[in-house]
Amino acid sequence: MNDHDSERISGLLETDGLVPVQDEDDADIVVLNTCCIRENADNKLYGNLGMLKRWKDAREGRQIVVSGCLAQKDRDIVRDRAPWVDVVMGTHNVHRAAELVEQARTSGPVTEILQEAVLDDHAMFPSALPAKRVNSYDAWVTIQIGCDNSCAFCIVPTVRGAEISRPYEDIVNEVQLLVSQGVTEVTLLGQNVNSYGRDLQLDRRRSGESVSAAPRFSELLREVGSIEGLRRLRFVSPHPKDMRPETFATMAEVSSVCEHLHYPLQSGSDRMLAMMHRGYSARRYLEKIVEARGLIADLAISTDIIVGFPGETEADFQQTLEVSAAAEYDYAYTYMFSPREGTEAARMTDLFVDSAVIADRYARLRVVVEHSAVLKHEARIGRIEDVLIEGPSRRNPVVYQARTRQNKVVHFTPTEPIRTGSYGLVEITSAAPHHLRGVLVEVTADPSHKVRIPVASL
Ligand code: SF4
Repeated sequence: MNDHDSERISGLLETDGLVPVQDEDDADIVVLNTCCIRENADNKLYGNLGMLKRWKDAREGRQIVVSGCLAQKDRDIVRDRAPWVDVVMGTHNVHRAAELVEQARTSGPVTEILQEAVLDDHAMFPSALPAKRVNSYDAWVTIQIGCDNSCAFCIVPTVRGAEISRPYEDIVNEVQLLVSQGVTEVTLLGQNVNSYGRDLQLDRRRSGESVSAAPRFSELLREVGSIEGLRRLRFVSPHPKDMRPETFATMAEVSSVCEHLHYPLQSGSDRMLAMMHRGYSARRYLEKIVEARGLIADLAISTDIIVGFPGETEADFQQTLEVSAAAEYDYAYTYMFSPREGTEAARMTDLFVDSAVIADRYARLRVVVEHSAVLKHEARIGRIEDVLIEGPSRRNPVVYQARTRQNKVVHFTPTEPIRTGSYGLVEITSAAPHHLRGVLVEVTADPSHKVRIPVASL
C-alpha cells in the first residue's frame, strides 16, 4: 500500500509538470514516503532528514515532503525534529500532494493530516489518482482503504483509518482501462481484501436497500477476472476469518485468477491468536487450507508469522511449528516481534519475551518453513511453467527473472534479450528455498504495453 501511495504521489507531481531525476543533486523536491510498519522507520527518517537539510540549504527553492503513515502518526515530532521540512502530509492527503507542495512554496511550511478518509470524496480513493506505475505490464489496484480489525500488533487501523470499500464500478473501470493500456497482470490491493463490500452492505442496510445487491469480494474477483485481455489476477491480503467458500470457488473457476493464496497465520496457538484478536482458531485456519487445496488445483500458499508475541510460551511456539508444518507453505514471511508504538502489543511490556528466546524460536521456525518450501519447489522440477518475464535480474543482468502463476520466482538465462512483460514457458531444472531455476522453452506472448522510445534532439 505504501509503495502504491508512492506511485500516486509521483503521478500527481508529474501531472503537475515535475520530472523524475536519478540523482538528488538534480532534484528540486524530495519526497520521503514513510511506513511505520517498517522496523526503525523513525530512526531512518530522522537520519535522512538530517542529511537532507544540507541538500536543501545548498540551493534556494528546494523542498522536502514527508508523507505516509509515520507522518500521520508523528506529525508534531517530525515538525519539532526537522522544522526545515516543507510539507508533512498523512495517508489521507495523498490526493493533495501537488497542491500542498505549491502552498508551501508560496506560504511556507504546511502540515495536513486528515484522521479519516472522506467517504464521498472520490478523488481521495487512491487509484482514482494518476499513478506513475513502476511497470507497464502489471499494476496494483486499490479496492479498499483502512481496516476495521484490531490486531494487537498492528498500527494500520490507527494510521489508515476505518475500512472503506472503493465503489465496484470504479474498480472494474480502472482495470478495463489498465488492460486497454497493455497491463496483463493486476493485483487487487487492500488491508483485508476479502471483507470488500462489507461497509457497502451496511450502508445499504441503513438506507433500507436490498443488502443482497451489495457486492462481495468474490463477485468483484469474478468480474475483474473476466475482463478480456487480463491474463493474471492476484489479491493481497485476505484475512482468514473473512474467507468465504465463494472466494475459493471463484479462484477455481476463473482462469485468470492465479493459483496463489497469501494466508496470514501469525501464530499457531489459539491462546496467542486470541491475544492478537485475530478471530480464528488454528484448527479453523487449517480446515480452510484443506478446503482451498481441495478446490483449486496446484494452489501455492504463503503466509506471515510473528514469533515472540508478548506472552508467547514454548508450548505456544510449538503449536506454531506444528501448524506451519501441517500447512506445508510454499513460502513464509516470518518476523521477530518488535513493538510498534501506539499498538496494544507495545503496552504489554510485562509480557515481552526475551530477545534471545525470540531469535532462537525464529531460527527454528525458519527450518520448518524452508523445509516445506524446498519440498514444494523440488516437486516442480521437470515441469514446464507459464511465466511472466520481469526482465534481467539486478545482481546479474545475464540471468532473467520471471514469475509463475504460483508467484514463484524463476531464474533462467536466455540466448537473446527478451522484452520485459513477455510471457514464456520455462522448464524447471533445479530448486532452492526462495527461487527456481530453469531453461526457457519459448516466448509465448510479447508485451502489449506501448514502449516510449526516446527521441534525440537534432
Ligand atoms: S487485519 Fe491486517 S491491517 Fe487490519 S489490523 Fe489486522 S494485521 Fe492490521
